[in-house]
Amino acid sequence: MSLTCLETLGVNTLKQGDIFYSVLTGNTLALGKGAEFSAYSPIDGAKLSQFNNATPEQLETVSAELKEAFKVLRTIPAPRRGELVRRIGEEARKYKEELAQVISLEAGKIVPEALGEVQEWIDVCDFAVGQSRMLHGLSIVSERPGHRMMEQWQPLGPVAVITAFNFPMAVWAWNTMLGLVCGDPVLLKPSEKAPLCALAMYQIAQNVLADMPDIPKAVVSVMIGDRDLGEAIAANDTFPLVSATGSTTMGRAVATTVAGRLGRSLLELGGNNAMIVSPTADLDLALRAIVFSAAGTAGQRCTTLRRLITHESIVDGLVERLAKSYGSLRVGNPLEDGTLVGPLVDDGSFSRMQAALVTAKKQGGEVVCGGERVTEGVPAGGFYVRPAIVRIAHDALIVHEETFAPILYVLTYRNFDEAIDIQNEVPQGLSSAVFTESLREAEMFMSPEGSDCGIANVNIGTSGAEIGGAFGGEKETGGGRESGSDAWRNYMRRTTNTINYGGDLPLAQGIVFE
Ligand code: NAD
Repeated sequence: MSLTCLETLGVNTLKQGDIFYSVLTGNTLALGKGAEFSAYSPIDGAKLSQFNNATPEQLETVSAELKEAFKVLRTIPAPRRGELVRRIGEEARKYKEELAQVISLEAGKIVPEALGEVQEWIDVCDFAVGQSRMLHGLSIVSERPGHRMMEQWQPLGPVAVITAFNFPMAVWAWNTMLGLVCGDPVLLKPSEKAPLCALAMYQIAQNVLADMPDIPKAVVSVMIGDRDLGEAIAANDTFPLVSATGSTTMGRAVATTVAGRLGRSLLELGGNNAMIVSPTADLDLALRAIVFSAAGTAGQRCTTLRRLITHESIVDGLVERLAKSYGSLRVGNPLEDGTLVGPLVDDGSFSRMQAALVTAKKQGGEVVCGGERVTEGVPAGGFYVRPAIVRIAHDALIVHEETFAPILYVLTYRNFDEAIDIQNEVPQGLSSAVFTESLREAEMFMSPEGSDCGIANVNIGTSGAEIGGAFGGEKETGGGRESGSDAWRNYMRRTTNTINYGGDLPLAQGIVFE
């Protein structure tokens, strides 16, 4: 496996001997002072990097640097901060292929999907640059004579971003590019499974910061560590906002700690995404959407399609076509042309998939196809599986859990109201879709009586969101919204200003106090 991408990106210089730095702020480059750990490639299990965990004590030093950086960044005009983000986007464009390669090495994504992830980073830069000239508030009429009111959006403070392994670049970019234009330094704590992606992003940003001496380098900082570091970040009141992406278990812990100090958390947690397929649907279109949403990224997207809610009159034919299509999916090395399904991230993920299939069978499910480990024609040491299709009842308990692997549960419904009830009956609320040619069903699905998810699509799959829309979900998915639309407001604080330009001091609500 070639690691030249790390050299081209300059990541190989971010180490002492064989150990990579775990604390990187532009001014400080330091090894972690905690336990040693290594990250491995899902492609073949090869060791890619070695680190020591950054410790909560080291966080104290970094927090102090970030507070100082904030004092400067908040005074720099937002369009100049936009200029920083524009240049970061240009630098990412220049190294798009190498960055994608690092994603493939650490997260096991096939190259087209890894390139797509880097493209999301580039796209969100463009979006954030525009936003840097549109951080505007309202002007509001006052009830008092000789007064006016307005809202202003001010920089919030240092923002901490905790990320998951499966979108190691895009999630950082959504948060960081908006955070920077809003005037907030950003500290990243990446997944322990994808630390080199964090170093690559850091290096790209520092290449740009080196040419912009008016902006402190610490505005893009990274600390690499485990859950203990994540917990320390959540507890640290340097960060008025902690944006955390990962499992619901992690989100619950972070949200509780951050709420304990009355901070804000922005949570992007697990999904259990469904698609309703109506008898009126264009089934050719639906089939393509199902296969990409359910088997793409080896089922390791937060928006992966996990539940297919099919009208009972079409289920048999659809499952037959799906199984045929699954049979032709090429599972293999994600770096090779033609591969559509890469590896699971590690052995733990493989075991959880196998356990879910056993439980599904115990709960009355029938495995139509897939689920088995693939060992022929794939690199040894990786955990490759054939994506599985399981027919099962909608209320089997396993169907209500997120198993982060390619298992598609096929459920049936009789009428559309029942389909929506099934769609909404799980604790998660991220992404959903309906395939229908009926205007009534489509509108019903998007209405207040319809899908309760943050994303509700018509005639496209559940995965593959665009950066222009606000991204996130409800219920156990955490309620956060990132990326497009008005998500920038998360990274700012709102002030309401009342200005008296008259010569009198009238009180609100007509109160007389004299
Ligand atoms: P994970 O929860 O194991 O880890 C995510 C991050 O949280 C890591 O950086 C980890 O070190 C940190 N962490 C773990 N416990 C913590 C704690 N108690 N306090 C602070 N930090 C802690 O998740 P993962 O396996 O890397 O990613 C897969 C999960 O992420 C899936 O559930 C997936 O649905 C979810 N995800 C959600 C979105 C979204 O936008 N909704 C996007 C990507 C992934």
